[in-house]
Formats: sequence, structure tokens, C-alpha cells
Amino acid sequence: MKMIVPERQWVLATGGAGYIGSHVVVELVAAGFGVVILDNFENASPDVLTRLARITGFDIPVVRGDVRDKSKVAETLMRYGIDIVIHLAGKKSVGESVSGPLDYYNANVGGGIAVLEAMRETGVGKLVFSSSATVYKAGGAGTLDENAPVGPSNPYGRTKAMLEEIITDTVASRGLTRAISLRYFNPAGAHHSGLIGENPTAKPNNLFPFIAQTAAGLHPKVLIFGDDYPTPDGTGVRDYIHVVDLARGHVAAVEHLVANAATADHLRVNLGTGAGYSVRAAVAAFSGACGFDVPFEVVARRPGDIAICVADPGRAKQLLGWTAKLSFEQMCADQWAFHRTCEDHNTDRLVVSG
Ligand code: NAD
Ligand code: UDP
Repeated sequence: MKMIVPERQWVLATGGAGYIGSHVVVELVAAGFGVVILDNFENASPDVLTRLARITGFDIPVVRGDVRDKSKVAETLMRYGIDIVIHLAGKKSVGESVSGPLDYYNANVGGGIAVLEAMRETGVGKLVFSSSATVYKAGGAGTLDENAPVGPSNPYGRTKAMLEEIITDTVASRGLTRAISLRYFNPAGAHHSGLIGENPTAKPNNLFPFIAQTAAGLHPKVLIFGDDYPTPDGTGVRDYIHVVDLARGHVAAVEHLVANAATADHLRVNLGTGAGYSVRAAVAAFSGACGFDVPFEVVARRPGDIAICVADPGRAKQLLGWTAKLSFEQMCADQWAFHRTCEDHNTDRLVVSG
């Protein structure tokens, strides 16, 4: 396998072995960037590295380590001559963050601070941060633009909102030149190769992996959480974005940072499609993708859920020249293709050591 000799800058992707990170790595390499992954593999399997090599044609350098280990991050930045950091590493379950908030503040806020300190110490000045639409205050009407009020309703969302504030302060103090926080809406789907995607080992909380696992026979039916919302068919509406489109949004953000290196600011940018789909529409589209009806039952609302959450993606188009391109149907088809090969995926899982 070839080692990367990038035509462009080197990027460090913390959490690059995870669901979104692995897709970001693929798109960065395709765009000519060199990429190094730093991951502690707490929520990733090492076989993703073999899969990334198969997709990209390159051996992607990997550092096993925790982002809270500031020296390890700094040493990695220096060793690879990193120009830009994409900070994806962290914990992401809302429910877990409610039962174990300190773990979440420690990993997500503590980890982010360690990355910022390592960047300041080594003079790396450009950052893209994985934020989330969960930072927005619930209950707003219409689509959400980046000026919508921030007011997360759970510890996970607060870790994202806090780190955004910390990044703003760090940029203002000249401890960082430029940053973009990408507020993801609902990522779903998988790479069209079927080699990388998301297949949680624990029972999934998110709709798409749950539908896919139900279609694969792992659950008897999809439980639709409520059909009495003020939406066209009564079920919750979200802005599902294909993970490959999302990954391309990161490339656009990196390119923006490279092109505007001299300005000091921190941009917040939504990554969403601007289109909302209901839970019923998602089950129907997935049934279309797999060629049979995925069973479902309407049950009570899930506590804490809101009726509608859809992005206004205008700023991403205006500033980054990025828009989502892949359809909802494509997202379902790619997620299903990935799940169909998951049996094979599981057989070549390796044990992480070190
Ligand atoms: P993921 O769990 O698949 O990926 C996260 C990766 O980070 C994993 O590979 C994990 O092993 C690694 N990691 C976790 N803690 C670490 C640490 N302390 N040090 C080093 N590595 C660590 O999650 P994902 O869905 O790919 O999410 C990536 C980022 O995007 C996260 O920050 C998440 O909060 C954010 N995000 C995700 C979603 C979503 O729906 N998936 C939505 C909005 C924002
Ligand atoms: N949902 C559902 N059944 C599930 C999981 C989710 O009906 O098993 C609904 C949920 O109520 C919401 C939508 O699907 O309306 C998206 O939920 P998800 O957890 O994927 O994302 P989020 O709540 O973060 O938007």
C-alpha cells in the first residue's frame, strides 16, 4: 500500500476512525490532502483502517491516543507537520450524557481544551470542530439559521455549546487564528462502497441505524415515537444528511480556512440539507431501498424530543460554496448496502491493543 504524499496541506482528524471521521478522511484524501488519524478506538474498530486503505489506495497514518493527552496531540502535530485540525473525537450519546455528565464534560470539553492547548503550543492555527444542531434552543419555528438562539437541553449539547464558546475566546486571544464549528443536523447513510458506515453494537438510539437493523432482522419492528406532533403526518421531522455530503462539507471548511488564513474569526456553519423528512417517510423510503416493508409500530413520544428540526443551509452555501447533493433515497440505499455486508464486517474485527 502507498504512503500519502499530499499535493496539499496535512490535516489531523481526531476521531478519524469513527463513523463521520472515516468518511471525512476519504473525502480529504480524494481532495489531495494528507491525513493523520488520532483515535483511542473507544468507539471504533481497527479494521476501519484496512477499509480506508481499500477505498483511498493509501495507508493512512494512525496514532492511537486520547485527545485529553495534550503531549500526545502536540507530538503528533509536530511529527506530521500538521496545518489544520479537524476535531471530531468525543462522546455522542445524549442519554449517556444525562446519566454520566462528568464523563461527557471531561471527554468533550476537556478533550477540546487539550487539543486547543496543543495547537497553541505548536503554532497550528486552523481548526474545524464537530458541533451539532443540538446546541440550538428547542421549540423554534421554521428552519434554523446560525443566529437562532443557542440553549441545549442536555449535557451532550452543552459540551458542544461550551466548546464553541471556548474556541471563540481562544481565537480572540490569538491562541488560534481561525476556526469553523460545523453544526451537523442528522447524519445518516454510508459510503457507497459499503465498506464504512455506522453499525452500533449496543441497541441504537438513532432512527436510521435502528431502521437498518430492523430490516436486517435484529429487532422485530421500528418503534415510531409519537404520531401526534404538529407535522404533516404527525411524526417527528428531521433534516437527514448523507454522511458523504457531510464529509464533503468538512473539505469545504478546510479549503475555506486555507484560503482565508489571515483573518481571525470563528464561524458557525450549519451542515444540513434544508429539507425535512418525517419518521414515517424514513421508514417508507428505507422499505423502498430494501425492497420489502420494514415493520413498525407507533408508540408514545420519547421524552425530550421536539417536533421539527431542519437547517437553513444558506451560510454553508454562501461561505463555503457547499450544498448537500445526495438524495434521501440514496442515503437509505447506501445505509442498507452497508448493513447487508455487516456480517462480513464483523468477522474481520480485530482486537485493539496498546
Ligand atoms: P463516533 O463515535 O463514531 O466517532 C468518534 C470517534 O472518536 C471514535 O472513533 C472514538 O473512538 C473516538 N474518540 C472518542 N473519544 C476519544 C478520545 N477521548 N480521544 C480520542 N479518540 C476518541 O461518532 P461520530 O458519529 O463519528 O461523531 C463524530 C463527532 O461528530 C462527535 O464529536 C459527535 O459528537 C459529533 N456529532 C455527531 C452526530 C451524529 O449524529 N453522529 C451529530 C452531531 C455531531
Ligand atoms: N425516532 C423514532 N424511533 C426511534 C428513534 C428515533 O421514532 O427508534 C424518531 C425521533 O423521535 C425523532 C427522529 O426519529 O423524531 C430522529 O431521532 P434521532 O434519535 O435519530 O435523532 P435526534 O433525536 O437527535 O434528532
